[in-house]
Amino acid sequence: MKMWEDYIRKVVPYVPGEQPQGDLVIKLNTNENPYPPAPGVLKALREMDPDQFRRYPDPSASLLTKALADRYGLPQDQIFVGVGSDDVLGMAFLTFFNSQKPILFPDITYSFYPVWADLFKIPYETPALDHGFCVDPKDYRRENGGIVLANPNAPTGIYLPIDKVEDMVRWNQDSVVIVDEAYIDFGGQSARSLIDRYENLLVVQTFSKSRSMAGMRIGFAMGSQKLIKALQDVKYSYNSYTMDYPSVILGAEAVKDETYFCQTVAKIVKTREEGKRRFTEMGFSCTDSQTNFLFVSHKKAPARAIFEALRQERIYVRYFAAPRLEDHLRVSIGTDEEMETLYRFLEKELPNLSLR
Ligand code: PMP
Repeated sequence: MKMWEDYIRKVVPYVPGEQPQGDLVIKLNTNENPYPPAPGVLKALREMDPDQFRRYPDPSASLLTKALADRYGLPQDQIFVGVGSDDVLGMAFLTFFNSQKPILFPDITYSFYPVWADLFKIPYETPALDHGFCVDPKDYRRENGGIVLANPNAPTGIYLPIDKVEDMVRWNQDSVVIVDEAYIDFGGQSARSLIDRYENLLVVQTFSKSRSMAGMRIGFAMGSQKLIKALQDVKYSYNSYTMDYPSVILGAEAVKDETYFCQTVAKIVKTREEGKRRFTEMGFSCTDSQTNFLFVSHKKAPARAIFEALRQERIYVRYFAAPRLEDHLRVSIGTDEEMETLYRFLEKELPNLSLR
């Protein structure tokens, strides 16, 4: 080994869900939205001026922050945008978690959190969710260097009521508390309503799920001016032009169409609730997901066997070979037709996959 090899930063990367190619695939493994983005986005895309590609984009992405500010009733300097919420969250870890104290997040949650913590050498502890996969805010009443809460949580889909989120923020006013609301538009109340009262609260959301724009990579954070300024300073110390020209234009368009947004979300919620019924009928247990995915476990058939049988059929769902998760599958909500194909296959195959 050469000396320089010793100096390489060693990390165990996050593993994203598979992106299988080809048309004959039912893809329910990365919580994408099965419906297209708002019609205004497609129109703006057709009308986009490629001559603008010669120029650097607006580093402050102000068209997009303005659209978000109008939509959420906040001043523009309380909004930060990034390349998907992964970029925003990574930047927030780098910006806010700089003490020697461990940050806290649940043992079962978005599996990117420990990856950023390791990358940025942030110590962390992971209080266990209870047997029903719920967060107990009391576990977060101890010294810490910050808190991260995905709400609703992933991959469980469970939502922690807003009064409990507030309890966590109130108890931890010496730390920054990040609430990752990637799925909040599908159920529950956003902690955005608390940011006027708590300067230490950062709420992060994404265009990848409820706005059908995972491929565009747009995420944003809302918080006090102090938090947003700190994020901007770190961003401008790393890469001034995170948001490209198309993302800014098309993101702003997506935010304007509230009617389409509400319709799409309502369709997904309806399909999800029907999914809970269908999975339960087939002998699965199913958490009360408030997201665009279901978290299910069959009482007889092992999750890995179901996952593999579905994959053979070119139906992709997510399986996590991790402690406490290995009996479960996470199934993103597709169109009603896609879900029906999934149910029909499972109804036929489950008897063959079940252990006696
Ligand atoms: N937070 C959670 C809880 C997620 O499940 C995801 C999606 N993988 C993200 C953040 C990141 O999503 P994106 O970068 O597409 O905004």
